[in-house]
Amino acid sequence: MKIIFVASDFSGLGKGTFGAALGRLLRSHGMNVRIMKCDLYYNYDAGTINPKEHGEVYVLSNGLETDQDLGIYERYLDVECNSYDYVTSGQIHHQIYLNERSGQYLGQTVSFEHVIEEITRRISRFAEQCDVGIVEIGATIGDIKGVFFLEACRQLRAELGRVNSTFVLLSHFPYLPSCGELKTMGCQRSVNDLRSKGLKPDVLVARTPQDVKLDDYLFKKIELFCEVPRQAVVQLADIENSYEIPLLLRSLGLQDYLASHMELKLGEDTLNAWYKKFDLKRDLKIALVGKYSHADAYVSILHQLRFLGIDSVEYLSNLKLLTQFDAVIIPGGWGKRGTEQMIEAARLCRENRIPCLGICLGLQIMAIEYSRNVLGLEGANSTEFDDETPYPVVVMQDAQKEIHGLGGTARLGDWVTQLVSGSLAASIYGSEETTQRHRHRYEISSDIEFGNFKVTGRDKKTNLVEVMELPDHPFYLGVQFHPEFKPGRNPVFEGLVKAAENRKVLNSQDLRSLKSALYSGTPGTFFECLNINQPQELRQIVDLDDDQLQHSGISYYQQKILREFLKIWDEKQNVIEELEREISTCEREMRQININEKYSVEHMPLSEFDRRILTQLRKETETKTQKLKELRFFYQEQMQRFDEEMSRTFQSEVVPAIAPNVVG
Ligand code: GLN
Repeated sequence: MKIIFVASDFSGLGKGTFGAALGRLLRSHGMNVRIMKCDLYYNYDAGTINPKEHGEVYVLSNGLETDQDLGIYERYLDVECNSYDYVTSGQIHHQIYLNERSGQYLGQTVSFEHVIEEITRRISRFAEQCDVGIVEIGATIGDIKGVFFLEACRQLRAELGRVNSTFVLLSHFPYLPSCGELKTMGCQRSVNDLRSKGLKPDVLVARTPQDVKLDDYLFKKIELFCEVPRQAVVQLADIENSYEIPLLLRSLGLQDYLASHMELKLGEDTLNAWYKKFDLKRDLKIALVGKYSHADAYVSILHQLRFLGIDSVEYLSNLKLLTQFDAVIIPGGWGKRGTEQMIEAARLCRENRIPCLGICLGLQIMAIEYSRNVLGLEGANSTEFDDETPYPVVVMQDAQKEIHGLGGTARLGDWVTQLVSGSLAASIYGSEETTQRHRHRYEISSDIEFGNFKVTGRDKKTNLVEVMELPDHPFYLGVQFHPEFKPGRNPVFEGLVKAAENRKVLNSQDLRSLKSALYSGTPGTFFECLNINQPQELRQIVDLDDDQLQHSGISYYQQKILREFLKIWDEKQNVIEELEREISTCEREMRQININEKYSVEHMPLSEFDRRILTQLRKETETKTQKLKELRFFYQEQMQRFDEEMSRTFQSEVVPAIAPNVVG
C-alpha cells in the first residue's frame, strides 16, 4: 500500500486539482492511481450543502452526493470514483455511533482514538484499491477540524514508512508588491505547525501568482527552514488551463522524484496523448441561464465545454442579449428562485431557433414553457414551485412521496435510459440506450400530452421521462439526467456545440446578406448584397452538410448554384490575375526601355533591337488587355446568369423550410 497525502495551509489553493493532476501524471506512466477526498465537515455527504458554500454537488454512479473535487478526479483520471473515495467527518462519526450502538465497543469508553481508527481504516480501505492512493485532506492544516485526520495521517505514515508514504503540502506564497517579493514566512509557520503534529512535508508545492519566480534565495530558505530538498519544491503558479498542470509537474520532474523516493516503477509516458484532448480552441458564445452566477455551481458543465475547446460561458441575466449567443444551457437547480427567467429563456430559444440544452431542472423548465406558450395551459408549472398550479406539468415522483428527509433521498446515480430510434438523442448517443447519472425528485407528468415536444427517452425500469426534444428545431433538447457527471466527454454537449457552430455560421454577416438577397428574389440583389471580393463566407455555404443545410433555409439547388459560381469565380481569379501580372510585366519593360532612351547620356535614339522589342511588347500588351476585357465581360455575364438563376429559385420550386425573419 502506497499513499500520497495532500494537504494545504489555505483553502482555495487547488488541492483537488493538484492531486488530480499528480494522479494523471502517474497514471500516464502506467500506474493504477486513485484519489480520495477527506472532507472535514460534519454533513454526512455534500447533498444538502448550498452550492455557494462548496460549489457544485457532484454525483457518483452509485448515487453518492459528493464534493465537486470528485468530479475533478474523474475528469483527470478517467476512472469512476466510488464510495471508498470520499469520506467526511459526518460519516466517520455516524459510523462510530452505529458501532457503539451495535455493541462493537462493549465495555470501552468511546473516544478520539476510535475516531482516528475509523479514519485510518477508511483510508487503508481506499488505498488497497490501487498501486498509489492520493489522499486529499480537506480544509487547511491549521484548522481545528483537521486534527483527527492529520493524526490519522501521522499514524498511517508511521506504519507505512517513508518509502510507502509521501506528504505533500500546498502552501500559499503571497507576493507583496511593496517589497517586490514572494513571502515564505506563512509556509515556514505551516511547516512548524505540521511538525507540532508529528508530520513533515516531503514535497512542497509553492502556490504563487502568475509571473513571479521562486529564485535561488527563496529555494535555499525553504530548504533550510522547511527541510524540503530543492528537487521536491514545486512552484505552481496560477494557470489558465488547469489541464496543463500534469505537463508542468512532469517538466519539473516530480514523477522521477516520487519514483525514487517511493520506489515506484514508472512505465511508458503517455501524457502527451492524454493532453491532446484538451488542446482545442473554439470561439463560441454560450450562455448559461440558471439560478447562480458563480462558476463553482456549474463546474462540471464548464469542464464538459472545456473538453470541446470552449473556455468560458456567460451567466446571463439580461435575456435581451440571448439571441446573440450561439447556444444556451439551462442547468439543474432546486427551488423557485430564477425559474420564471429560465422559462423565458427557454421560450426565446425555442422561438428564435437558438440551440438549447436543458439539464434536469432545465428539461422541466422547457416542459413548463411549452405547456404555457404552445399548448395554451396558462399557469402551468411544477408543483415544486407552485403546488396550486392548475396544470401541474412537472410533479413529484411517486417513489419520492413516501420519502421523508432530504439527505441522499432524491432519485440518484446511474439509471438506464431507452432512447427512441431516429430521435436526435439516439443519434447523439449513437445508441438506443444510455446510462447516465441522476439527482432529482420531480418528473415530467405522464398525464400531459406534450404534442410536438416529443418524449424521446424514458427510464428503462420506471418509464419516467428522461429526454424530450423538438423535432423541427436545430437543437432543443432536455434531459432529466445530468450528462455533466461522468468521466470523459458526454456526447450531448458535442451535439449542442455542433448546433452552436451551425448557428454561428448561419448567423455570419455574409450569410445574412446572402439570405436577405435570396429571400428578396429580385435579380441583381444577390451579388449586390454580397461582398463579391471576398467570397470566403460563401464557401461556408458550399461546405454545409445536409443537416446544416436543412436548418439554414438554403436549398440543395441553391447550394449547387453557389458551388458552380465559386468554381467559375476561382478560375476567373486565377486567369485574370495571371493576365494582369503579364500585362504589368510588359508595361514595366516598355517603361524601362523608354526611360533608357530619355536618360541615356548621349541622348541616343533607340537601337533597332530595342525598337523591335518595344513594338513587340506593345502588341502583346494590346492583345492581353483585349483578352482581359473579354474575360471580364464573360465573367460578368456568367455572374449575371447565376444571379438570375438564384433569383429564379424563389419564383419556382424552392421554398425555404424556414421563414427568413426567424433564422438569425
Ligand atoms: N428540482 C428539480 C427536481 O428535484 C430538479 C433537480 C435538479 O436539477 N438537479 O426534480
